[in-house]
Amino acid sequence: MQLDVKTIFFLTGMLTSTTGLVLWGLAMTGRFDRWLKYWGISNLSAGAGILLLTFRDQIPDFYSIVLANMLTIIGYFLLMVTARRLYRRKVAWQPHLLVLAVMATLFLMMQDSDQFYFERTAISAAICGFYCVLISHTTLAIAREENISSAYLVTGIFSVTALAFGLRMLAALTHHLGGESVFAPGGINMWMILLAAIVAPLWNMSMLMMIMERINRNWIGRALRDPLTSALNRAGLSAAMENAVQGYSDKSYTALLLVDIDHFKQVNDKLGHAYGDELLRMFSDMVRSQLRGSDLFARQGGDEFVILLPGSGEKEGREVAERLQKAFTQSIWKMKTAEIAPTLSIGLAVTKTDQLPQSLHNLLQQADAALYQSKQGGRNRITTVQTA
Ligand code: GH3
Ligand code: MG
Repeated sequence: MQLDVKTIFFLTGMLTSTTGLVLWGLAMTGRFDRWLKYWGISNLSAGAGILLLTFRDQIPDFYSIVLANMLTIIGYFLLMVTARRLYRRKVAWQPHLLVLAVMATLFLMMQDSDQFYFERTAISAAICGFYCVLISHTTLAIAREENISSAYLVTGIFSVTALAFGLRMLAALTHHLGGESVFAPGGINMWMILLAAIVAPLWNMSMLMMIMERINRNWIGRALRDPLTSALNRAGLSAAMENAVQGYSDKSYTALLLVDIDHFKQVNDKLGHAYGDELLRMFSDMVRSQLRGSDLFARQGGDEFVILLPGSGEKEGREVAERLQKAFTQSIWKMKTAEIAPTLSIGLAVTKTDQLPQSLHNLLQQADAALYQSKQGGRNRITTVQTA
């Protein structure tokens, strides 16, 4: 098959710059974060670079070689900046600007259309490949840290692109590009340009998917958590329950602790509501530091919290409850709540793991009754209810 390389190039340039224009226009509405601006300009710049390249031999070499290459490279650079911004990291601009200045100098020195074709191609492939590696490195971090599966897709696409650039560089260095100029038909160069035409829209699409998945996850996360303490709310507890109790044997037990801070109202009254909030946050951090990854921690409302310990029976449940009381007392010491020394009252109920999540409501009621007994008994104590 004989494909017209110039036409493919032109269409890729048009597609990329139009996408850039739309993204940049959206960024200008001011409704989005800064990354959208970088993303838009990145597409615009790369698209303009590709378009200028199409006019090789029709416009002065400075435009179709120096400017075209630089705009394309700046496009990749800004795409890397976009990925870093999405990762909520700043970019140290100086070293990159220095690299870009060196690149511009090299292209100025080698702008003779035919003489340095292979050298120019190798340099440009190396730097674009380098930025693709940086992009996939960043999106891999996003995928791992935020558990966003479409970020793996972005990583994969940019890794393939980086690999293609690596091959292009090698082909250029060994003069195996399949011709003496960029638009020579056939050979490796043509197939690479075809690959670029396919992959370019995929970059944007996969990045968009990554962003959408992140936004979605964010909203779900917010809907299922209490904003003050980041503990699960009731809906979050129900949603997480099914996963949490899976994989345990028929004979295993699960303990539920219902924890209420004693004399919390006094903290609010004497030290202020903001101080009360701070105490709730401190309590939540302390609890999280004491629990295993498989345990669940939820805010039931006010100063009452639920802790679910899958796979733990009464003995372990009581041990955890005692540990929490001790750790809370130590943290309170550090908070210097003056004469008020809030403690923890705890109700403990136990059930067979395989009866959950259906028995959650029952279990909560029993733990509530046990908590009531702890309060009645003088507070700062643990009361247990054992169920079949
Ligand atoms: P007890 O020893 O019987 O548990 O009494 P208590 O003083 O701890 O008060 P109780 O548990 O009955 O009530 C909890 C109080 O917590 C009532 C409310 O004013 C306060 N509260 C509820 N939500 C918040 C909050 O988000 N921030 C702060 N600072 N206070 C809250
Ligand atoms: Mg209380």
